[in-house]
Amino acid sequence: AFQADVVPQAPEDPLFGLMAAFRRDTDPKKVDLGIGAYRDDNAKPWVLPVVKMADDRLRNDPNLNHEYLPIAGLADFTAASQKLILGGDSPAIKEKRVTSLQTISGTGAVHLGALFLAKFYKLNTKRTVYFSNPTWPNHFQIFSNVGLPNQTYPYFSKETRGLDFEGMINTLQNADEGSIIVLHACAHNPTGVDPTQEQWKKIAEVVRAKKHFPFFDTAYQGFASGDLARDGWAIRYFLEQDFEMCIAQSYAKNFGLYGERAGCFHFVTSPSPDAQSTVTRVASQLSILQRSEISNPPAYGARIASLVLNDPKLFAQWEEDLRTMSGRIIEMRKALRGKLEELGTPGTWNHITDQIGMFSFTGLSETQVMKLREDSHVYMTKNGRISMAGLNTHNIDYFAKAVDKAVR
Ligand code: PLP
Repeated sequence: AFQADVVPQAPEDPLFGLMAAFRRDTDPKKVDLGIGAYRDDNAKPWVLPVVKMADDRLRNDPNLNHEYLPIAGLADFTAASQKLILGGDSPAIKEKRVTSLQTISGTGAVHLGALFLAKFYKLNTKRTVYFSNPTWPNHFQIFSNVGLPNQTYPYFSKETRGLDFEGMINTLQNADEGSIIVLHACAHNPTGVDPTQEQWKKIAEVVRAKKHFPFFDTAYQGFASGDLARDGWAIRYFLEQDFEMCIAQSYAKNFGLYGERAGCFHFVTSPSPDAQSTVTRVASQLSILQRSEISNPPAYGARIASLVLNDPKLFAQWEEDLRTMSGRIIEMRKALRGKLEELGTPGTWNHITDQIGMFSFTGLSETQVMKLREDSHVYMTKNGRISMAGLNTHNIDYFAKAVDKAVR
């Protein structure tokens, strides 16, 4: 019989453990570079002005109620989400080759896709899922939980602190035909290293030649460069190449809607006379999976995002807010690199400005990371990843000096 006393203790989630350690630290100089959430120049959470506007509008709507959403979520939201990521004039939308469900943010979208593949993916019997090394650690848990085995492809080069493109391509080439390849659409977490457009084209070639199945995780559209189309480029390129694919889309970062859990899962099938019927069948199965897991998704965050995505004025304000966030992060990258070079800190620091998005893989060792925590009250994950959003004009000098001290 099942006895709860045999359940072993699970390790604490490293990131949430780090947050707890930061909160316990009473030193006024402490710096939080752990969690991937945007902070303003005063290290405070930022409610996007456009979200405030949408929120005010929603709250004043006398017709707003708290009824259930449909199983697939708010239709205005999922339709707008398709346009946002696939492109407004995408043939996949016109040809009805895509089906979309609102999910519990990006995590829920990755999970729904993983669950769907675990049940229906038949291209090869091993069904190995390939992640970049490193990747968002939750990928391992989510895909393992649904019983799909995983491996990794090389991604980050410790020497260049850039992409190990050759290693990546070789592994994808040597993987069993029909493997599932998880790709970060932009602003790779945790490294901040993205393939160039030329490299994406080559990746697409190998994925096609080996009949692999691409699964895009997009959690930072608009957040990386400040330009929604540019950050969606890789996915749109794969679409132009007529790939069948899954897309997990999060609105946590680009709307600052972290706790509202707004996200979307898309399944796109390739052009064929059967495409519409395929999508209809896929949609019917996804609907059953969604029903058994969450019944229907939460309404509030999706309503906010939907208002913004469907209103040209609000949309323009959102683009401005995205430029504010990405612009501040890019400024911090420049400032940090500049200060480290000025201090003559041993090592090269060009990777700080070469990398993109919320995170930077500093190349600091675990010992240096621990030293920074103990000596300077600076908190970052053990792999040397820093959240650029945790830096601001008030703490960047302090941080640069602390790094300088730790690496000498
Ligand atoms: N995928 C990647 C690569 C991420 O970095 C994140 C968030 O950190 C997510 C997915 C999902 O986040 P959420 O569930 O908060 O949307």
